[in-house]
Amino acid sequence: MRVVEIREKAVKLKSRLRNAAFSFDEMTTSLVAVVTDVVRNGRPVIGYAFNSTGRYACGAQMRDRFITRLMREEALTLDPAAFDPDVWLKAMMFGEKPGGDMERSVAIGTLEHALWDAVGKIADRPVWDLIAQRYRGGRAHPRVFCYVGGGWYAPGKTIADLLDEVRRYLDMGYTLIKVKVGGAPLAEDLARLEAVIALLGDPSKLAVDANCGIPPALRPDYAAALRPLGLRWFEEPAHPNDYQGNADFIADYGNAVATGENLFSLEDVRNLVRHGGMRPGVDIIQTDVPQSYGIGTAARVLEMLEAHGWSAASVLPHGGNQMSLNQSAGFGYGMCESYPDAFGVFSGYADDLEVENGFITAGDWPGLGFERQAELIAMFRDVAA
Ligand code: MG
Repeated sequence: MRVVEIREKAVKLKSRLRNAAFSFDEMTTSLVAVVTDVVRNGRPVIGYAFNSTGRYACGAQMRDRFITRLMREEALTLDPAAFDPDVWLKAMMFGEKPGGDMERSVAIGTLEHALWDAVGKIADRPVWDLIAQRYRGGRAHPRVFCYVGGGWYAPGKTIADLLDEVRRYLDMGYTLIKVKVGGAPLAEDLARLEAVIALLGDPSKLAVDANCGIPPALRPDYAAALRPLGLRWFEEPAHPNDYQGNADFIADYGNAVATGENLFSLEDVRNLVRHGGMRPGVDIIQTDVPQSYGIGTAARVLEMLEAHGWSAASVLPHGGNQMSLNQSAGFGYGMCESYPDAFGVFSGYADDLEVENGFITAGDWPGLGFERQAELIAMFRDVAA
């Protein structure tokens, strides 16, 4: 039960969306296929993954270093009874200097997810179940609350267009919606938020995401203006590594703050909970697992968070794809995120998943379940062909 070959291909996301900080026009992602020596129905078992959303394809690092190191690792096995994600990580980290994590954490985390997918397929078990068995005493949470990350800025988009978008999400069965802020003047953002709150009928059904795009001098104004609205959370008020800036915003704002999707190591997240003013039981941690070394590291991050008084319920993985759904169901994270139609085939979940009153239920799929996404699996099979 070994790896025979690992392939990578970069593809464009084909999205014209924008948040407060940047546009997705040129965004790419790496598709990875791990071909194994296990044969089922006359075909090799292949594990797949892509590098989530918001970070560019990283094939150069994969090919130059990490795939080469995995292929020469003697102890690397995909046997469900003997696999060890720490062996995979140690192999890929050979010769890597500490620090500068993001230069490699996306490539490593993506390859790691494809290895998990292969093990799940060989075991004929979902990755969420493998995670629960390995790290959470077998307690999985397949029914997961899921909110929509939407409300993007787009050329010519009006408040009426935004409300139409929110209505579409409600019609799909979602109950909690997040919209972008900080990409328009404050007065315009407030008008957008007040219109959405009026439509939802409850401010706790609305969260906002500033994507670190609000200039530091304007943060107190946003804190004062949005505090009375009673929103579910305010996301990324400050630069990801500006822990004091995050703490200052929390002191001004008072209500729940979410951040962490642009942190890439356990040490980054530990700095956030030590120095970022984050309050267990109030605020939310949002790491992107394939972009931060993968599932094995996520298990260590959760252990560290629990030692600092946090619980899995306060973790909400960034990503909005089958990988994050498997993580939420396996680790028992508080919820997961969805971006219906925002990033084409790289958005959302298995084609047959129903959203019921804000909840989705992870299926009994082998591996990560990408085979349940017809368009996406066609692209993966093209990489493996
Ligand atoms: Mg965000």
